[in-house]
Amino acid sequence: MNLVSNDALARLHPTHNHPESPQRLAVLLKRFVWEPAPAATQADVLRCHARSLVERVELSHDETWFDPDTVATETSYEAALLAAGASIAAVERGGFALVRPPGHHAMRDRAMGFCLFNNAAIAARYAQAELGVSRVAILDWDVHHGNGTQDIFWDDDTVLYVSLHQWPFYPGTGGPDEQGATTLNVPLPAGCGDAEYLRVLDELVRPAMERFAPELLIVSAGFDAHEQDPLAWMNVSEDGFRELAGRSLAYAPRVAAVLEGGYNLTTLPTLVAAGLEGFQR
Ligand SMILES: [Zn+2]
Repeated sequence: MNLVSNDALARLHPTHNHPESPQRLAVLLKRFVWEPAPAATQADVLRCHARSLVERVELSHDETWFDPDTVATETSYEAALLAAGASIAAVERGGFALVRPPGHHAMRDRAMGFCLFNNAAIAARYAQAELGVSRVAILDWDVHHGNGTQDIFWDDDTVLYVSLHQWPFYPGTGGPDEQGATTLNVPLPAGCGDAEYLRVLDELVRPAMERFAPELLIVSAGFDAHEQDPLAWMNVSEDGFRELAGRSLAYAPRVAAVLEGGYNLTTLPTLVAAGLEGFQR
């Protein structure tokens, strides 16, 4: 599995002192060898998002605030298309997209939680439209619930969405009673670490994946469940992320990954390296 990205993501979409910053990509792109990928088209984005949202991001010249955490400026549309494009390339090439802004909170018609367009969802729809893949699973181990991905695919039985997340926690969704035919939420109390995550993977996620039998797995790979992440309260270790990635390889014949959260600039490159090692095993 190779890394896919675009060096403009370390420069575009500045966010002042926000934890979701261009520096996240700067530290990653300096650390790794990676392949460049082209931007997504607006048509790719419109497979998942309302035109009104896409145009609002496109036309953000000064600062457009979607919520107190989520800003778009004049370079954000370009960044969001590049992030979606690298995610599409990751699916085409069986790679791991190092991208920002992240995507899993972006709903069909609403940007929120640092996310403008839903990169993993756009890549899943691309695979269905252009690569002849019909059944796609998305495994989201970012520490936050991916309410946007859930929203986009809630009524779609061709996409299985599985999320492991701290709960109750931002954004508030993904509780134990929020389940669907092809939506599996696994809310976990603060303080969980490798043992709890791996047990959930083996006891809940693996059977769900075997029942669904996806042709393609896209991992929404956030690293903010790490013990040293500043935004959450989980205790997953570097070895834990390596193991999560390694075990997920068994769920589908094709596997790709897309970066979501992970906000400790010191540990993020190490955790991405561990995830990559797991995916390459
Ligand atoms: Zn997160």
